[in-house]
Amino acid sequence: MQPKQKLIAVVGGGFGGLNAAILLRKYLSKEKADIVLVDKSTYHLFYPNLYEVASSEEEFVSIKSLKKSIALPFSEVLSKHDIQFVEAEVTKIHQKENYIVFREEKIDYDYLVLATGAVVDFFNVPGAREHSLTFKSVNDALKIRSSIEALVQQTSATTAKRALRIVIAGGGFTGVELAAELTNLKKIVAWKYSFPEEKIEIEIIEGTSQLMPGMGTDVCLPISQRLKDIGVRLSFNSMIAEVSANSITLKNGEVQNFDLIIWTAGVRGADIPFEVKTEVDPKNRCTTCTDLSLKDFPNIYLIGDNACILDAKKNSMPQTATQAIDQAEFVAHNIAALVKGHPTFEYVTKPFPYIVPVKGKWALLHLPNGFTLKGFPAWIVKQLASLRYFMRLLPLWQALALAWFDVKIYTKND
Ligand SMILES: Cc1cc2nc3c(=O)[nH]c(=O)nc-3n(C[C@H](O)[C@H](O)[C@H](O)COP(=O)(O)OP(=O)(O)OC[C@H]3O[C@@H](n4cnc5c(N)ncnc54)[C@H](O)[C@@H]3O)c2cc1C
Repeated sequence: MQPKQKLIAVVGGGFGGLNAAILLRKYLSKEKADIVLVDKSTYHLFYPNLYEVASSEEEFVSIKSLKKSIALPFSEVLSKHDIQFVEAEVTKIHQKENYIVFREEKIDYDYLVLATGAVVDFFNVPGAREHSLTFKSVNDALKIRSSIEALVQQTSATTAKRALRIVIAGGGFTGVELAAELTNLKKIVAWKYSFPEEKIEIEIIEGTSQLMPGMGTDVCLPISQRLKDIGVRLSFNSMIAEVSANSITLKNGEVQNFDLIIWTAGVRGADIPFEVKTEVDPKNRCTTCTDLSLKDFPNIYLIGDNACILDAKKNSMPQTATQAIDQAEFVAHNIAALVKGHPTFEYVTKPFPYIVPVKGKWALLHLPNGFTLKGFPAWIVKQLASLRYFMRLLPLWQALALAWFDVKIYTKND
């Protein structure tokens, strides 16, 4: 008798979930497993290029083509993979009975991969949620762009043309890259509305004593210098304690006015609608076993921004796309092994290189062995890394077209 075909459900089609689904299909034939990917959105979001949506002007590139370049429809990406796609928000996960619920429907699974990502963390700072713009979706990016443009347009109509202050709360990777790219937008809108460019100030407010807390000085110092060179102001040891409509209050009591605040201070795991409550870390990420399964539920796996995965020194791994993809590769391999009756393994964490683009064709590449590369060569590496990723998902010509579009935007923005 043929063994029963398994059903593998993957919830979340981001860097973790989409790659897990594609690899599961690569390792398991249709006869062995049905694979269903469930996502509340219709597209896979390529976050590393979200900055371009926030900072490019419609005069130079249409919003439609910008969106197309970072939001890859699941219908296109999955068309050649024989993976079923369901557009729905999963509202309940019944771990004991092995089914997930969305709308009025349910899916019974044999194995479940959860990769629902992260949400913006306001750290319970009063007023932060109500008064800040965020930067975690295409709509957020478009809102930042239009808010800055509206601000400059309105102020340019006044005779005084007062100075404008845009505050970026948090000097981590996101705050740094966003501040740098917004200097492009600042230049374009100043030109468009005949507003003095020097009157638009972009400032990063960072609570600790350095940018990108946790990184070494070989990374932070060149990036700080680059930001200063392109006109971004930096404030350190400035912990925000409260946000109101037009001002922030720092922990030391100092009050500073702003015209626009963008909150990039951090993320936390998105709430997972488990029927049986599970253990989470302070960043709301579910703790995992050494094979990335959920404690007491060996057929449920957690990967990406929503999983708390500890390295050998018990430090949690960073929330990055590179980590999510590595974890996706691991769980796809292990689930395929279980289905085939082969031995499984424990997850071994590893550090990955990272690249921080800081405006135009300048980036900083840092390798786990400490090697650092700055400037245009590092920017080339970033473009090649994007191309390599697109090639995982799309046919070569489509991947090349996307990567080329990206290069053209950077060139225009420079
Ligand atoms: C602006 C920005 C730039 C970044 N740049 C980089 C970079 O250059 N390099 C890098 O390594 N990392 C980068 N990151 C971090 C990286 O994007 C994340 O670490 C990565 O996306 C995590 O992958 P994930 O699969 O856990 O979550 P995500 O990629 O966020 O995917 C989660 C998916 O789950 C879906 N979902 C959520 N809840 C539900 C639900 N209940 N039901 C159904 N679907 C659901 C969402 O729609 C989404 O598609 C960046 C992040 C941001 C915000």
